[in-house]
Amino acid sequence: MPHSEERIRIAIAGGGIGGLCLAVGLMDKTNLDVHIYEGVPRYTDIGAGLALHKNAITAMDLIHPAIKKTYFAKALTMAEEEDEEMVTQVVLVSGPNTGEVVAELGKAKGRRTVARADLLDGLLALLPKDRVTFGKKLDSIKEDDASGKVTLTFKDGTTAEADCLLGADGVHSGTRKHLLGADHPAVPPKNSDGWRVHSRQLPMELAMKTIDSKWRRTVPILCGKEGHVNMMPLHMGKTLSIICVTRTGIASDGSVAPFEKERFADYREDAKAAVELVAEDPHITWELQQHDPAPYYNRRSIAMMGDAAHACMPFVGQGAAQAIEDAAVLTALFRRVDSVSQIEKALTAYDQVRRPRAQAVVTMGRDFGRLYDFALPGVEDDPVKMKQFMGKGAAFTNNADLEKQNQDAVDAFEALL
Ligand SMILES: Cc1cc2nc3c(=O)[nH]c(=O)nc-3n(C[C@H](O)[C@H](O)[C@H](O)COP(=O)(O)OP(=O)(O)OC[C@H]3O[C@@H](n4cnc5c(N)ncnc54)[C@H](O)[C@@H]3O)c2cc1C
Repeated sequence: MPHSEERIRIAIAGGGIGGLCLAVGLMDKTNLDVHIYEGVPRYTDIGAGLALHKNAITAMDLIHPAIKKTYFAKALTMAEEEDEEMVTQVVLVSGPNTGEVVAELGKAKGRRTVARADLLDGLLALLPKDRVTFGKKLDSIKEDDASGKVTLTFKDGTTAEADCLLGADGVHSGTRKHLLGADHPAVPPKNSDGWRVHSRQLPMELAMKTIDSKWRRTVPILCGKEGHVNMMPLHMGKTLSIICVTRTGIASDGSVAPFEKERFADYREDAKAAVELVAEDPHITWELQQHDPAPYYNRRSIAMMGDAAHACMPFVGQGAAQAIEDAAVLTALFRRVDSVSQIEKALTAYDQVRRPRAQAVVTMGRDFGRLYDFALPGVEDDPVKMKQFMGKGAAFTNNADLEKQNQDAVDAFEALL
């Protein structure tokens, strides 16, 4: 152990996808004493299925091969057949260009989705049990200016001390609030466009009575000016998940506006059939939120990551992927940290490399949503412009050179030493 015989204590607040991936990446480094403090007493299944794109899988591999293995062990193919090719088709279903396919995204054999709870359980199993404490909801953070040490106080009144705090505590992050200041306008997540999701999952057999059978083989995003409809087979084709996403989900008095299927009256029949199924059982609904860009992700020995740093609209399917990219960069950096005095430099390098890309993805998430609803200025419902915009976006998110991203961070760190 160069520089110091003492182990560097790293506290990770939040044992979600980002926090767990990071802990797995750091657990083999003998000079680091890594501990996750997770707020909930145990994970619960909130029914969220995640589809992870190529960059997420590459980032997993960069952190630790066991993460990718776990993902493939836990994820189920969308289709019945393991090697069946599937693609996300973005199709216009209202207006003069109805029928135009403006993007085919993520074409691959054996495309998978994973239940969030299953992935968390799998990642947790990769860590020694004593590295994670549940029921430790971070309440406040105190920094010692002289030593840089951080004291965490939890809701149950207990405390923990660390040399470094990495806040992976989700969209309503206390770490973000501490870093930016409670009154900073970028602290609370926002839903400026008024997005609301209306969701229904139903047995495939039942869905197939009214849904076009081609949507069993292809994941569609059916676009129109009143909102978009997304269908995705889950559980090896046994379940169909349908979501209708609208920008009219919040009434002017701030209450939740009811789901109005009449708004979709001029949509193509296959989209209307999906809307009808959601309207039959409109009770599962939630609001979407994203962060305004934070001016920095770190200060001294504290940094934020994942949704805590850059909560994103789901329209590019990148929230978890970006959390995993954060974990990959932090892993590369902390593998090189061998004294407490280097922590601040590592976190500065992390901020320099990750913030521009993560914030560009947040903007892209917002813009993809607007594009699906013909509301992106300069693009509207022009199929050619839509194709160009989405092609560029997909290349930026999925085909990024993540080995280079890690190397850029390491170079920035070494330049600061
Ligand atoms: C319905 C749905 C579908 C999604 N689909 C996709 C998708 O297909 N692809 C994709 O890439 N992304 C998707 N996302 C986004 C993705 O789930 C998130 O971006 C990702 O989970 C972020 O990981 P995280 O670890 O940063 O935060 P989280 O997963 O939110 O984890 C934060 C953790 O911190 C804990 N915590 C919170 N406060 C405290 C505290 N005070 N003290 C201690 N612990 C605390 C929480 O309990 C939680 O375990 C989806 C999200 C939703 C809701």
